[in-house]
Amino acid sequence: MSQEDIFEKVKQEFTAYLIAKGHRKTPERYMILKHIYTLNDHFDIDFLYNSINSERPVVSRATLYNTMELLVDSNLVIKHSFGANMSHYEKAYNNDNHLHLICTICGDIKEIKDHNIKDVIQSKKLSKFALSHYSLYIYGVCNKCAKLTTKKRTSQAKK
Ligand SMILES: [Zn+2]
Ligand SMILES: [Zn+2]
Repeated sequence: MSQEDIFEKVKQEFTAYLIAKGHRKTPERYMILKHIYTLNDHFDIDFLYNSINSERPVVSRATLYNTMELLVDSNLVIKHSFGANMSHYEKAYNNDNHLHLICTICGDIKEIKDHNIKDVIQSKKLSKFALSHYSLYIYGVCNKCAKLTTKKRTSQAKK
């Protein structure tokens, strides 16, 4: 699916949602949606705010917070709470199921795809339950932090 097709599809869904819930269809809301679907990674509100307003101020924080709530509620954006860090978001549509590797020290998130796990989950016979999507968090220590900790340990050992 092309980027244009995807955007057309999510725009339609968002419109249907806004009408059903009696929310206004403001250009800012669509702009935020479109912007999110150009991003390929997780982001937090600060990142999104800065990236949307990078050329000139176009949306306020209040509008952004409010729109994010609508986008999460309409299932077009997924909200993650990875441990102690602030909420992270990612687009939901056409974003294949993936695993999140989360560093418990710096909070860095890496995404990986794993077809074995995908097959296992999709072949599970879930009684009285239709699977739509899943999200898996794997916690540990990233390479960068592991190196830093080893360094600290060796310098402490020298003292
Ligand atoms: Zn780390
Ligand atoms: Zn993700």
